[in-house]
Amino acid sequence: MPKQDPTDRSTGFLKKNLETVPHKKRVQYLNQKLRGIIQHAYKNSIAFKNKMESAGLKPKDIQTIKDLEKIPITKKADLVELQKKNPPFGGFEGVPISELKRIYVSPGPICEPGEMEYSELGWAQGMYAGGFRPGDVVINTFSYHMVPFALHMVDNSLQRIGCVVIPTGVGNTEQQVNILKTFKAAGFCGTPSFLLNISEKAVEMGFDLKNDIQLKVGFVAAEMLPESLRTSLEERLGMVIRQTYGTADVGCLGYECLKKSGMHIPDDKIVEVVDPETGKQLGPGKTGEIVATSFNKIYPMIRFGTGDLSIVTETPCPCGRSSPRLIKILGRVDQVTKVRGLFVHPGQAEEVVSRFPQIGKYQVVVTRKEHKDEMTFRIELRGEIPQPEKLKEEIEKAIRDVIKVRGNVEFIPLGTIPEGIRKIDDQRSWE
Ligand SMILES: [Zn+2]
Repeated sequence: MPKQDPTDRSTGFLKKNLETVPHKKRVQYLNQKLRGIIQHAYKNSIAFKNKMESAGLKPKDIQTIKDLEKIPITKKADLVELQKKNPPFGGFEGVPISELKRIYVSPGPICEPGEMEYSELGWAQGMYAGGFRPGDVVINTFSYHMVPFALHMVDNSLQRIGCVVIPTGVGNTEQQVNILKTFKAAGFCGTPSFLLNISEKAVEMGFDLKNDIQLKVGFVAAEMLPESLRTSLEERLGMVIRQTYGTADVGCLGYECLKKSGMHIPDDKIVEVVDPETGKQLGPGKTGEIVATSFNKIYPMIRFGTGDLSIVTETPCPCGRSSPRLIKILGRVDQVTKVRGLFVHPGQAEEVVSRFPQIGKYQVVVTRKEHKDEMTFRIELRGEIPQPEKLKEEIEKAIRDVIKVRGNVEFIPLGTIPEGIRKIDDQRSWE
């Protein structure tokens, strides 16, 4: 890899040609990769062949991303079941076990065949987009034991960029602080809460968070990252923190660039956002389940259902990367309600409400009147406001913007909504 100015973290790409390719070309590229992995998986993975046969499919039936809809979705629970029946990998492995370099065991339990040559691109793309550069000394505080994330995915990806890894793993906070100081480490990989622990420990040890600790970039995953926590860590440590999303089964499915405008889908994955009931693709702007396909020949996961909800956007990102983006992870599929044909999740309601500091407690009620769904935000205001009608209109507009379903707003007296209620109360009866 050519040496580049390590102080310039704001521009550049890991794989410029791939990352800036026009949409149509990207789709062609992915379709071609898809045909390749379908052929490989059909020939080498018993589990995938069975899945295809159960749907009456042959590899030639899958030519494009749209054709993926024909293939049944594999959920985590299916994986656990199939691995029990046919240990250790449930027939999902794409090469003989003797050819593997490592085997990982994740909670579930789910066994994952490790790399021969590590080829995944996504995490490294994410790190690069978040400002990691060749020559950076980086502590990797994810757990190196059993699970594939720290060693297989993060460590390999850091090396792919040309970073110098210190495999610290979790815990030993005081020692982590000393390591950061001794090696003037520029990068942190880990959970946001562990970075917080480290920063608190450093202060306790009497260190200055910007001079004694010289972190510049953080790559965080495996936990929700509240904006308030991100901002406070970034300011106190004088660094940039970007988050990433993925699973142990399929790898990286999204990463933030410096523009923080959602999570770019890596160029070595196909990510569909689908109706969780039918498995049909929903296209940009609609909430659905994230279903992923990897091109990993050792462990080809075709249509893996993550159980997470998101919305995809194809609008251009100012960073120059042309890949579609997951707007944010909205929550789990099992908390979702369907209103007028569209999925509504508590996370979306929360997003609407978070735009209005005047709102105290609220509950979304879904009812049905003359065979039409109605969604009402019942809202308690924190105090008297001058123009309630105007606020009502603004909230209703935010509901349309965020949820894409029309909703009514009803202001109710303070203290009406009890503690601990469901955020979305579905009162429809279907008799
Ligand atoms: Zn971007």
